Amino acid sequence: MELRIPADVAKVIHKLSDGGHEAYVVGGCVRDAIRGVDPADWDVATDARPEEIQQIFRRSLYLNRFGTVVVRMDVHEIEVTTYRVESEYSDRRRPDAVAFTTSLREDLARRDFTMNAMAWTPPPEGGAKGGLVDPFGGQADLEARIVRAVGDPDERFREDALRLLRAPRFAAVLGFTIEPATAAAIRRNAGLAAGLSGERVQQELLKILRAPVPSVGFRMLSDLGILEVIAPELERCRHTPQEKVAAQDVFEHSLATLDAAAADMPKGVSEEEDLVLRLAALLHDLGKPDTHDDGHFHQHEFVGEAKARQLLRRWKLPKEVVERTTHLIRHHMFWYQSEWTSSAVRRFIRKVGLDRIRDLFFLRRSDNIGSGARVPRLRELEELWLRVEEEIHRANAFSKRDMAVDGHDVMAELGLRPGPEVGRIIDALFERVLDEPELNTRETLLRLSREIHGGGTPKG
Ligand code: ATP
Ligand code: MG
Repeated sequence: MELRIPADVAKVIHKLSDGGHEAYVVGGCVRDAIRGVDPADWDVATDARPEEIQQIFRRSLYLNRFGTVVVRMDVHEIEVTTYRVESEYSDRRRPDAVAFTTSLREDLARRDFTMNAMAWTPPPEGGAKGGLVDPFGGQADLEARIVRAVGDPDERFREDALRLLRAPRFAAVLGFTIEPATAAAIRRNAGLAAGLSGERVQQELLKILRAPVPSVGFRMLSDLGILEVIAPELERCRHTPQEKVAAQDVFEHSLATLDAAAADMPKGVSEEEDLVLRLAALLHDLGKPDTHDDGHFHQHEFVGEAKARQLLRRWKLPKEVVERTTHLIRHHMFWYQSEWTSSAVRRFIRKVGLDRIRDLFFLRRSDNIGSGARVPRLRELEELWLRVEEEIHRANAFSKRDMAVDGHDVMAELGLRPGPEVGRIIDALFERVLDEPELNTRETLLRLSREIHGGGTPKG
């Protein structure tokens, strides 16, 4: 087996072997290289101790007590880690202590899945030991597209419950299946996921969310009994019928909405916006199980907003992501009729927020597709969107300079000197005119400026 590895990485390995040590690329990067995918990062494992690694690489950084040395090369930062064995995970998170070993096989045995438990080293000149080390059949499983635990699956999931989520994550992202005995062990140990920190759960969930067809991973999490543990409010949607499409439950509808969002994600959105849109699609109907009554879900958007906030906080998502996602959920139930006046359209824009409205329409389109929308509902949505765009365009074109009065007029009318109060009044007038363009006459604005100056900001 010949793998292509970057020159930087080969150099690290050769330096270590010149120093009399074994060195291999190992783990996820071997898996990816065999699949013909560029690994995100290259990890090197060696029998050299951290002190010995540091002696060989002067530009290195000994990061932590877990025996990993980061070596900075020209292009890559390479993590060089001393072989170690699995040790007690008393808190089911991190090994309590690192036990080093000189056996590569032992190091591979502590890894989670067979495809992640392979090592490869370039054959040195003169040819002795080179090539792939694959004691657990990782290459065959990779070819068969199977996620299989290394060793006794029950033991492996008990050692570190994160593996319960890593298995479906790999399966979903790579389009693999989970080997039956491994899947059965996940079901038996699913309850252990309750002890995982929100940050670790989040890390795996985000990878599932960003998969090309993210529904696959969430369905798997549910089938394996993990969703019930990490997101019972989402699991409950599985037992709530969705109104429109017979035989579809709210969970399947949510997944269809998520897939639609993933498939239509606009080019050029930021990573954060992409995440917000996926989360909102997945969670937009989270309020339905609690509001289900006679085929209706009265005010489910508000219940859903609150439930989603709890869930996203539990997963330790950044505040801004939580806020933007729940805002979309809160507003996703707007309904529209062609009779809306322009000022109704403007009020709607202001309620949702100019910087959120595009996302809200995106969510609603995904929602419609996710419930097998018929054409007219989408057509209404598009009609409203065109009117929203028109209003946004008009508001952008309309600036304070276009108002029928300016600061001097206001000062003269009210006997004011230049100062912040003048600015406050102009801003308030501007808001009113944006809302109702017909107010933009000198007479009306001067009258309004008196009201504003006299009694704070009148309701607009
Ligand atoms: P990714 O593509 O997400 O980086 P990866 O397999 O490289 O996937 P990492 O978290 O970078 O995942 O871990 C690198 C390697 O360390 C894995 O391939 C695996 O061999 C081992 N590993 C990581 N996490 C665990 C774990 N929880 N239990 C056992 N082995 C693990
Ligand atoms: Mg990795």
